[in-house]
Amino acid sequence: MHNKKRLDDKDLESFPGLGPKSKLKLLQIGISRISDLILFLPSFLIDKTKMTDISNVENASKCIFIGNITKIFKTKGFKPHLMLLVNVDDDIIQIRFIHKIIMYSKLRVDMKIRFSGIIYRRRNIFEIIHPEIEIIHDNKNLEKIIPYYKTKKLLSQNKLRSFIKYAYDYISQNPNEDIFNAGILAKLNIPHYLKALKDCHFPSSQDYTKANIDFEAGRKRFVLEELLAYKLVLSQSKKAFGKNKSYKFIIEEDMKQDFIKNLPFELTYSQCDAINDIEKSFLTGSPTKRLLQGDVGSGKTVVAAIASYYVVKSNLQAVILVPTEILCDQHLETFRKLFSSYDIKIEVLKGNLKSSTKKSIIAEIQDGTINIIIATHAILQKNIIFQKLGLIIIDEQHKFGIKQRIKLIQKKTSAANEPHQLFLSATPIPRSLSLVLYEGLDYTIIDELPKNRKTIKTKLSKNSERNDLYENINKIIKNNEQVFWVCSCIDYTESLEAEYVSGVYDFLCEKFNNIKINILHSKAGNNENKKSINNFISGKTQILVCTTMIEVGVDVPNATCIVVEDSERFGLAQLHQLRGRVGRGNKQSYCYLIYKESISETAYARIKSLESHSNGFKIAEEDLKLRGAGEYLGNRQSGYNDNLKIASPEDIIVNFDLIKNSQKEILLLDKEKKDMLIKRWRKNTQEEIQL
Ligand code: ADP
Ligand code: MG
Repeated sequence: MHNKKRLDDKDLESFPGLGPKSKLKLLQIGISRISDLILFLPSFLIDKTKMTDISNVENASKCIFIGNITKIFKTKGFKPHLMLLVNVDDDIIQIRFIHKIIMYSKLRVDMKIRFSGIIYRRRNIFEIIHPEIEIIHDNKNLEKIIPYYKTKKLLSQNKLRSFIKYAYDYISQNPNEDIFNAGILAKLNIPHYLKALKDCHFPSSQDYTKANIDFEAGRKRFVLEELLAYKLVLSQSKKAFGKNKSYKFIIEEDMKQDFIKNLPFELTYSQCDAINDIEKSFLTGSPTKRLLQGDVGSGKTVVAAIASYYVVKSNLQAVILVPTEILCDQHLETFRKLFSSYDIKIEVLKGNLKSSTKKSIIAEIQDGTINIIIATHAILQKNIIFQKLGLIIIDEQHKFGIKQRIKLIQKKTSAANEPHQLFLSATPIPRSLSLVLYEGLDYTIIDELPKNRKTIKTKLSKNSERNDLYENINKIIKNNEQVFWVCSCIDYTESLEAEYVSGVYDFLCEKFNNIKINILHSKAGNNENKKSINNFISGKTQILVCTTMIEVGVDVPNATCIVVEDSERFGLAQLHQLRGRVGRGNKQSYCYLIYKESISETAYARIKSLESHSNGFKIAEEDLKLRGAGEYLGNRQSGYNDNLKIASPEDIIVNFDLIKNSQKEILLLDKEKKDMLIKRWRKNTQEEIQL
């Protein structure tokens, strides 16, 4: 028992051959304990028996050879390179070491070596720089199948393998009972802990196919372990969190109807359902943590407003955290309109306020004069205290990190009551994925767009064939409607063949010479951007050339066209978000996705799917198929990589049923085993888990 506990905790200090430098490098790839090391699984196995055919080799391709060293020499100069010439089937391959010559001092002429790397054709010779090298001694059989680890090039494969070998030996020599009992192993159809480790790191089969089958089975074991550990933490902390107390808001049917009747539109069924869900959780007496997912333009803001309304009616305060100042101003306007017939004080707090204004707003937050505050991260400063905070709303939730969320929660004003939390998100993800990733959250989907919406006509357009596009832009502008023109870069970038804001601006000014155009991007000053966006909102300008800064929130119903330059450079989710900037009123809207001729087939298929799909959930599924969920979600968007070390979104989807069906058994494990599982995957509290 003692050993097992120490194993997960034991750090790497006592490792032989592991100095502070290696330790630091291991830390950079997320390894600080023995268990991290052993669970640092290879990405795939390499078949080292398949030698490259030198007569058929392509420039800059991966290759592997066995040959004899025929010559060793150093180049001249201040920092000489170490060069080897190697005879491979009577062809000569040159190997170059640019630094760390000392590391290769064991190499001698006539030695037989196996080496692998990227091969380049130089004038009349093949060259490989810094290959992986193994010396073939007389009697030694070389390993045929070896794992490949993603080390960010911080450590050599050999070095990492030797550390892992040591850790594995250490573990396998000590008593090591599996956390999972035989019943669970059978149910999940996975190997024992030690066997799984061995099959991942030290394939024993000489047959590549067989070794891969074992590797996949071993990897699956750890994927499931990690996901089950993740779910375990979420369910534990949901339980703990549910024990907290929170405010029961005053919610009365006639006051609700009064509010709804004043809206300039009729709520969709989906919006009504979402409001009902939210009301229910506001009445339970324990704090809500609810994720409200709805496609761009589905009308989440008004739902947030109704939630805030209950808070104010209950003599409490609501805060709405938004990612940009533009959105701050926009929400202020929306909220003030929605609440115009009520005596409710709504203000904004953001970075670029005059300091006297800021001071008085902060004071009014503290004395309770302000009922609803719409704020950027400026609200997170320590000195800002609420009189009585009842509800936290985080808009565009994926734009915020976990630390910011926690800072906001810490602003609670009553020790007895936690504020309720509502997260708004427009990144639709497939249901099975969200069930695992968001286990601890209540979850509402708005899956309906307001009735007046017309499907946005989406067209792919080749970079060189823009005549149709310009014609249509002319029409749109004649109609007094407006255009967003999005670029992936602000400035000219030599390494990228991408359109950039200032270049497109100049071009458009010339092309449409009697039209007013502004630009908007993060390098322009705050004031300038404010002017640009206000000009656009008020209709003073017809085209806004911008970066993805407009991706979140911006609501200009008169904008009916969005043009995206180099659209293949964006993720589908992002393109979908961008497209959501138009089609917000009842006019027919257009989205032009421009692509370069050099586009790859898969990239083309990807953006092409936007032509036929307008539903964010469908697009999510499509993108999953085409590129995998990791890329769809992006790191930042899902906080995904912070939560899980090895399991990918695809792993979640593939193993969804298994995870769901084995949850019970995991909950039945004794406490010590549960703790071990959680510790092994370093999942401590829910606060560590990023939404
Ligand atoms: P998102 O969900 O992307 O945040 P918004 O809340 O900004 O969407 O709403 C988009 C637009 O749709 C706004 O102009 C809003 O006034 C309008 N809207 C919201 N709900 C409805 C509805 N039920 N019917 C018609 N228009 C609506
Ligand atoms: Mg919104």
